[in-house]
Amino acid sequence: MVATEVKRVHNFSAGPGVLPVPVLEQAQAEMLSWHDTGMSVMEMSHRSAAFEEIIHTAEVDLRQLLNIPNNYKVIFLQGGASLQFAMLPMNLLGQVQSADYILTGEWSQKAYKEAKKFGQARVAFSSEASGFNRVPAQAELQLDPKAAYTHFTSNNTIYGTEWLTEPMVSTPLVCDASSDIMSRPLDINKYGLLYGGAQKNAGAAGATMVVIREDLLERVPANLATMLDYKLQAEKKSLYNTPPTYSIYIMGLVLKWLQSIGGLPEIERRNIQKSDIVYQAIDRSGGFYRGHAEPTSRSRMNVTFKLPNEDLDKKFAKQSTSLGLDGLKGYRTVGGIRASLYNALPLEAAQALAAFMDDFRRNNG
Ligand code: PMP
Repeated sequence: MVATEVKRVHNFSAGPGVLPVPVLEQAQAEMLSWHDTGMSVMEMSHRSAAFEEIIHTAEVDLRQLLNIPNNYKVIFLQGGASLQFAMLPMNLLGQVQSADYILTGEWSQKAYKEAKKFGQARVAFSSEASGFNRVPAQAELQLDPKAAYTHFTSNNTIYGTEWLTEPMVSTPLVCDASSDIMSRPLDINKYGLLYGGAQKNAGAAGATMVVIREDLLERVPANLATMLDYKLQAEKKSLYNTPPTYSIYIMGLVLKWLQSIGGLPEIERRNIQKSDIVYQAIDRSGGFYRGHAEPTSRSRMNVTFKLPNEDLDKKFAKQSTSLGLDGLKGYRTVGGIRASLYNALPLEAAQALAAFMDDFRRNNG
């Protein structure tokens, strides 16, 4: 039954990405009958007591892990973070105020462009001129104290930069945490709204987590399309219509797995350890590997680097794949190499990658 004989690669995919083997094994064991119900989670009504338990437990566990205070609602939606780019301004921007956007990569640019379709938005900082190679220092932010909210992207999946402390703002702080949510502890009290898809650190594609401070729900305009209304989705506990039941179930299993290993402090420790191993391989390469991120902005989730030329980038990606190190080719618009080291990636995978990087440099440097 155990998947030990099954060939598994070291999966460095940027998302959907690697899941914990115990989670996959449990899903396999429960495939034909979840908890003696005689049916798979895929086959059960979202109105059944069994599914109500699954979604309720997922919310309770998410609240426990992130230490979410009672004055915040948790909702599970579809449409990915990309739909949140639109739902956020539709619900919270209004027609009078403007929203601030901190631009640190393509995803934050997309969020900003989407907001402008629904109201006023302005750029409070952009690192585009330096190829999005860093996140700003507090003093560089040009914040509008009257903004409806300030939006930032905590981890820039494409460029490999990450904010390890939140920007300090006087307006509600909104965060796209798609690629680092559940990878480390957060102080939710600093946030007005936090959102992210499950498919990188917390489960399978299809479910998007939204954590929203209750008072912000008062801003939701009355005439919004029902499915896009945070207030209604919160009131209906994410069960207005059929939610992505199987994705919510898998997320629930990942949350249990996170609890079993020691919660977010422990996963953060592991994520630091893994990323240190890969960054050290860059730093000892004598310039053969050139990291994209400025060292103080380095992401623990996505390590991005380039080799001396594109032919070597290609050769590196091809050879690593043949050795079972999968998904290392960089994002299509940026090139180079990107190693995503999400929660479920084991330490051995980071070690194997660093060893391969050393070998490759010796053979090609
Ligand atoms: N924001 C960030 C930071 C991301 O990494 C991604 C996906 N890679 C998105 C938004 C878009 O997410 P989705 O595909 O779930 O809409």
